[in-house]
Amino acid sequence: MRPSPKHEVEEWRPDLSPDEPVTVVGAGLAGLACAIVLARAGRPVIVREWHKTVGNRFHGDFQGLENWSDGQDVLDELRAAGVETSFEAHPVREGTAYDAWGKDYPIRGDRPLYYLVRRGGHGGSLEFALLKQAIGAGAEVRFGDRVADPEGSTVLAVGPRTADAIAAGYVFETGRPDGNWIAFDDRLAPLGYAYLLIHAGRGTVASCMFTGFKRQAEHVERTVAFFRERAGLEMRNPKPFGGFANFRLPRTAVQGGHPLVGEQAGFQDALAGFGMRYALRSGILAARSLIEGTDYTRLWRQELLPLLRTGVCNRFIFNSVGARGRRWALRGMSLSDTAVKLRRLYRPSVLTRLVYPLAVWRYRAPLGDPSCDHVACDCVWCRHGVGHAATIPA
Ligand SMILES: Cc1cc2nc3c(=O)[nH]c(=O)nc-3n(C[C@H](O)[C@H](O)[C@H](O)COP(=O)(O)OP(=O)(O)OC[C@H]3O[C@@H](n4cnc5c(N)ncnc54)[C@H](O)[C@@H]3O)c2cc1C
Repeated sequence: MRPSPKHEVEEWRPDLSPDEPVTVVGAGLAGLACAIVLARAGRPVIVREWHKTVGNRFHGDFQGLENWSDGQDVLDELRAAGVETSFEAHPVREGTAYDAWGKDYPIRGDRPLYYLVRRGGHGGSLEFALLKQAIGAGAEVRFGDRVADPEGSTVLAVGPRTADAIAAGYVFETGRPDGNWIAFDDRLAPLGYAYLLIHAGRGTVASCMFTGFKRQAEHVERTVAFFRERAGLEMRNPKPFGGFANFRLPRTAVQGGHPLVGEQAGFQDALAGFGMRYALRSGILAARSLIEGTDYTRLWRQELLPLLRTGVCNRFIFNSVGARGRRWALRGMSLSDTAVKLRRLYRPSVLTRLVYPLAVWRYRAPLGDPSCDHVACDCVWCRHGVGHAATIPA
């Protein structure tokens, strides 16, 4: 593979014959989606994964595969691209949101707002189902194979580089009925949101914070207490979990002549950290580029960049309007179909065009929470992230 001569935006086209193997580094969502599409097209694929199994940085927690950023249902989109939706995915059409004063707002969509999936290395997780598909389609997967120096025809799918946001909480068993709750209160989750997701006797409760990492334990404690009181949270066998997410508005998704996919490229929703759809989409786009010989840069800029830009604008607005602005937005969201409202929120508008230059200026550098100085800091980034994030040299 070769990068084409430097243009303002670096083009990337494959330069390999169809029988030459493609290496995908990282068996996360982006890497596995890429491997599945390549293998189904009859291309030889080798997936090299650092850990002994998939999903190492997840813990059986529920996550939401968002269904609002496109007119097409996300599961239909995957099927159309050749990725089977054999994983557990539970449609969520309604839930409850809370503002910083604890007032509740019903949220509801005619079509699913998102699909609840589980993450981790166990059967039933999203990545485990994708792994089975990749192997079934003919991809060779090598575990315990940390790549430091990628060479040849290689797609880099190694996940986040650093922590711009962290989420911490508990996974647990419960006798409570299914439900979905979200709270926008800086005392629970500074500049982020706290969430409680319950399905079929399992649950996830967490604080997703964009700052204040050093006070993670306090935020988690308040989150649990809040949902105990407001949603009747009851946990059996709770296990602490946490993780980190990385946001960037990428200028390029090529590094050392290799295409980048998923969070390694910065493909992530800057408003709320819904990165799974971007990871899957970008893996599929890289596979398409390799199969069709088309320019990967053109593909991701066309399909992902408008959404990424709107996400950055939305984050800037979210941070700027404060608790009162968020309350006003929640009220609006709850008055009619929330899925339609969210879809509108992710579509470029006059407001996002106006805000864009300011938002880009604000997020030109990594967010870098100043409270997380690695001195007596016990947040998930300090405990598990530093030294374990994706480490392919630039
Ligand atoms: C707690 C938490 C909650 C989240 N909730 C949501 C949600 O509700 N909805 C949503 O859409 N998104 C959510 N996200 C974000 C989403 O999980 C990520 O954006 C997505 O998993 C990114 O996929 P990826 O394939 O890019 O990276 P990953 O899934 O991280 O996969 C990268 C893989 O590369 C491997 N690897 C790394 N370095 C190397 C190396 N040098 N050599 C070989 N292999 C390597 C890793 O071991 C890993 O398996 C959440 C994230 C966290 C942490």
